[in-house]
Amino acid sequence: MQCELCGRNVDKLVPVRVEGVEMLVCSDCAKYGVTPKTYSRKPRLGMKGSPKGTESRKVYRPKRDVFDTLKTIVEDYGEIIREARIRKGMNIEELARKIGMRVSTLQKIESGQLEPEEKYIRRLEKELNISLYEEGGGEYSNQQSKSFTLGDFIKVRK
Ligand SMILES: [Zn+2]
Repeated sequence: MQCELCGRNVDKLVPVRVEGVEMLVCSDCAKYGVTPKTYSRKPRLGMKGSPKGTESRKVYRPKRDVFDTLKTIVEDYGEIIREARIRKGMNIEELARKIGMRVSTLQKIESGQLEPEEKYIRRLEKELNISLYEEGGGEYSNQQSKSFTLGDFIKVRK
């Protein structure tokens, strides 16, 4: 009889499991495998590395504070809007129409009762040439449009 592991011809073959595969091997090779008796006591999963995984899986969750990422609107946004509007010679209805907002909403905003939504803040900043964000968020967008105008873009593309 031939040992399935080393190929040697021996009188007696021992059934063993080597890496999960059942083989008939010689007594020399038997020590490399696990005899069925020993094996059968172990759960099948035992062969594929025990799932001991007791260490908690680390879930990557970026630490993100909403107040860190969101720009803060200036405290006296209402006054700034009203003053800028008056400076531009617009009445409240005109401004509301220009930025696509209801007059009643704009009135609330100007009186500081309601914080405008971001899209309206953008429009107000653009329309009134003001900055409603702290940290000069408005300034930044102004700088951008100054340094890179559509005209520049067209020139570059030519
Ligand atoms: Zn052998």
